[in-house]
Amino acid sequence: MTNVPLLDLKAQYAQIRSEVMPIIEQVCASQRFILGEHVLALEAEVARYCASSAGIGVSSGTDALLLALMALEVGAGDEIITSPFTFFATAGTIARLGARPVFCDIDPVSFNLSPAAVQDFVDRQCHVQGGELRNRATGGRIKALMPVHLYGQSADMQPLMAIAKAHRLKVIEDAAQAIGTEYQGTRVGSIGDIGCFSFFPSKNLGAFGDAGLCTTNDAQLAESMRVMRVHGGKPKYFHSVIGGNFRIDELQAAVLRVKLKYLDGWTEGRQRNAAFYDAAFAAAGMGNRIVTPQAAGHGRHIFNQYVVRVANRDALRDFLTARGIGTEIYYPVPLHLQQCFAYLKHAPGDFPESERAARETLALPIYPELTREQLEAVVAAILEFHAAGQRRVLSS
Ligand SMILES: *Cc1c(COP(=O)(O)O)cnc(C)c1O
Repeated sequence: MTNVPLLDLKAQYAQIRSEVMPIIEQVCASQRFILGEHVLALEAEVARYCASSAGIGVSSGTDALLLALMALEVGAGDEIITSPFTFFATAGTIARLGARPVFCDIDPVSFNLSPAAVQDFVDRQCHVQGGELRNRATGGRIKALMPVHLYGQSADMQPLMAIAKAHRLKVIEDAAQAIGTEYQGTRVGSIGDIGCFSFFPSKNLGAFGDAGLCTTNDAQLAESMRVMRVHGGKPKYFHSVIGGNFRIDELQAAVLRVKLKYLDGWTEGRQRNAAFYDAAFAAAGMGNRIVTPQAAGHGRHIFNQYVVRVANRDALRDFLTARGIGTEIYYPVPLHLQQCFAYLKHAPGDFPESERAARETLALPIYPELTREQLEAVVAAILEFHAAGQRRVLSS
């Protein structure tokens, strides 16, 4: 049996070990662990990679979102429109600041926030009062859109930016899974007001622990985020605003600088693996039983995850687990149905496409170091599952 873990970072580590260990050693020798030269250099390098004028290194992707919202002065009475089909942090950070997450359903093909759903919400449930867009039901002020570039594919930004412009909403891109993703030739994170990236180990560019980064083309927002990252102290010990400790570690920045040089090669490996799966499932005539990721046609997909849609998802997952093939469900419970958001008073059926995606999607192993044998084992196991299912149907 060919074992295929969902993700195996050891192969990547073996590739960079001899380069990364001396740099870790150097940082340790300097004992300069906070906001040193590697942080400054990483910020400039990632900003350039993401076509943004500024980068602010932070402690995690979650803190990138939190810091972005704080820099935009989001608080009680504000509402942020986002997707219910995403990692918890997207909405969790909004709620932690006393603001209200407003969910709009996803596009069933890309799994990203549907511009049509957002437009529909604005047209039917909002009104303009004192030059501000307000939610009729709550009286809250709609302050920003927070699209997520899920799995490494861009949300449909052009219509979302048009809605934002029409109503003077800020745009925060949750690009945690999307470093290097492009929308119509533009790197994500540089399209809205602030882009938020995560360097969690399982992301395409992963640290040796937690780390993240905000990008922006707005010098004033960059300055606000830099100040708020260190408790809002400017100069040190003098606070005109309340920030937090959102700093990225020097050690993580040093590791990430080594890895950044390899990122495009790794991303190409993921894209090659995705193309292998696409072709193999198509050749096997699985078109109607397994929906492979559909390129939305507006740019570079970096395949942080390769997520398929299948009808009997849980049975397939159990079958693959028994054959030593790792999979994951991103995400099993859409955010509007999370217990902690019960106060938003949502019910099953409110966002049918998000709920269907939560029932039907499954992430397959996609990391760049997968061997041909491993890729073939994943495809063979899925075909075997369906052949067995077919026999069951025919004999019943
Ligand atoms: C990973 C992720 C985050 C949070 O990043 P952390 O670094 O784990 O805090 C936020 N949003 C999305 C969509 C993510 O995938």
